[in-house]
Amino acid sequence: METFHCVNHPDRAAVYQCRQCGKALCEECYDPAVAGCLDGMHAVTPRVNHSFQTIQPPPRKQDSAGMIAWKVIVSILAVIGGATILFLAICGAMIFSY
Ligand SMILES: [Zn+2]
Ligand SMILES: [Zn+2]
Repeated sequence: METFHCVNHPDRAAVYQCRQCGKALCEECYDPAVAGCLDGMHAVTPRVNHSFQTIQPPPRKQDSAGMIAWKVIVSILAVIGGATILFLAICGAMIFSY
């Protein structure tokens, strides 16, 4: 059974493996914050800290072309419907006035 040794300390047995580059790391070389190397080579990787992460609402979905067309149709139908009701009301008033 092969035992892994720390890349920085060949005399030490590796107890961790870097999540970023897969290097074998001993207790001293392992950084739990990045789950990997402590040498700063992964410093550019933004650390995901959930406790400091503000919960943001998901970005508002842009209306698709189909949705816009549907809204236009609905608004046109609403205008037509309103005009029809108005027309019927006028007709009814004219009929009952005679
Ligand atoms: Zn690494
Ligand atoms: Zn080490």
